[in-house]
Amino acid sequence: MSNLKIYNSLAREKVDFVPIEPGKVRMYVCGMTVYDYCHLGHARVMVVFDMVQRWLKAHDLQVTYVRNITDIDDKIIRRAAENKESIAALTNRYILAMNEDAQALGVQPPDHEPRATAYVPQMLSLIGKLEKNGLAYQADDGDVNFSVRDFQGYGKLSGKSLDDLRAGERVEIDSAKRDPLDFVLWKSSRESESDEVKWASKWGSGRPGWHIECSAMACDLLGEQFDIHGGGQDLQFPHHENEIAQSEGAHGHTFVNYWMHNGFVRVDNEKMSKSLGNFFTIREVTEKFDPEVVRFFILRAHYRSQLNYSDVHLEDARTGLTRLYTALKDTPPDADPLDWNENHALRFAEAMNDDFNTPGAIACLFELATEINREHSPVLARQLKKLAAVIGLLERDPQVFLHGGGSVDGLSDDDVAAQIAARTEAKKNKNFALADSIRAELLALGIVLEDKPGGLTEWRRA
Ligand SMILES: [Zn+2]
Repeated sequence: MSNLKIYNSLAREKVDFVPIEPGKVRMYVCGMTVYDYCHLGHARVMVVFDMVQRWLKAHDLQVTYVRNITDIDDKIIRRAAENKESIAALTNRYILAMNEDAQALGVQPPDHEPRATAYVPQMLSLIGKLEKNGLAYQADDGDVNFSVRDFQGYGKLSGKSLDDLRAGERVEIDSAKRDPLDFVLWKSSRESESDEVKWASKWGSGRPGWHIECSAMACDLLGEQFDIHGGGQDLQFPHHENEIAQSEGAHGHTFVNYWMHNGFVRVDNEKMSKSLGNFFTIREVTEKFDPEVVRFFILRAHYRSQLNYSDVHLEDARTGLTRLYTALKDTPPDADPLDWNENHALRFAEAMNDDFNTPGAIACLFELATEINREHSPVLARQLKKLAAVIGLLERDPQVFLHGGGSVDGLSDDDVAAQIAARTEAKKNKNFALADSIRAELLALGIVLEDKPGGLTEWRRA
């Protein structure tokens, strides 16, 4: 297979992926804060980086994948108090729920899922190094903070100067911090707090700040420098900026070679938030839709683009996935490996190597489905199944999926209109990969589109 290119958020461009150690990849992804059920944004992070690690493995790379669990945090402490239960009871319950959600979405378990509470000694040692290097100080309120002014290169991930970043922050006038952008490494505990949220340290009893958790766990499990660090776009600043400052400040060299960020999830074109009432947990969505449809919906968009959730988009995804499963129907499985020299597989790999262009790869799956339907070729059907399995799709018995899935033949004029609208929107957002994928899906369903001047799209049944 040819070379993989990755869009590196730090370099702000697509670059060739070269692992530090030939044949091996070390990858860290920021995981969940476990005080509630996972929502669609979490589903996207889990599915996207599952796809990434699967594709790295398809390159015969030996992947060590770490996705942490934040099990100590102000929100967790508050929720446990509200529920009148221990922190361990609360977090264990939601860790179980998260694992169930991940499994339903076809997400393979990471190699390590470290819990922050098990890494406090490593965090304290890292804070000690930062203090020794003149980058951490204990403030009057007892908190130990990171001093951003003393770290050369703070802001390099965001591409902003300290002044720009300060202008975007609300300045806390009476803060004990030396700079409003300084962030807490060790939060000093109050008398009233329970022993469950206190650890002893040379700075007094307290608990770790969120950012130091990731620096410490990543270093302990993957080393001071590793290949890929991923997470949602919303974590780029300040969380990942702060991880860089801590890790590079403590060790004096590069922390991560490739930074990857997935785009936001929007609901009906609005930001998903609890206050807007358009907030969905994975459980709510999978009550209405097969979890594999949700996975397909996530992968059908490029990981860096915004993902717009609506029932229409999910129904559209169900139609597409049903079409693919229908092409597999009646094909007996075989034990032969996937043929990477076959024409669709070559183009699938080319798309995936172009910064994990899953919409391009999925378009190849639809082209295969079209040929299978035309030629009734079991060879191609087996190729489709194996190719889709590379990104964790079509791995179930087609009859089982189709029994519960939607009908392919029932694509109404309204369905077609909805798909054309989705494609027009994708083109407007310059998401041409998604637009092409929708066109290919419709073609696989026997719907031919013709773009007319003025942005109009006409269609006919082939
Ligand atoms: Zn993190």
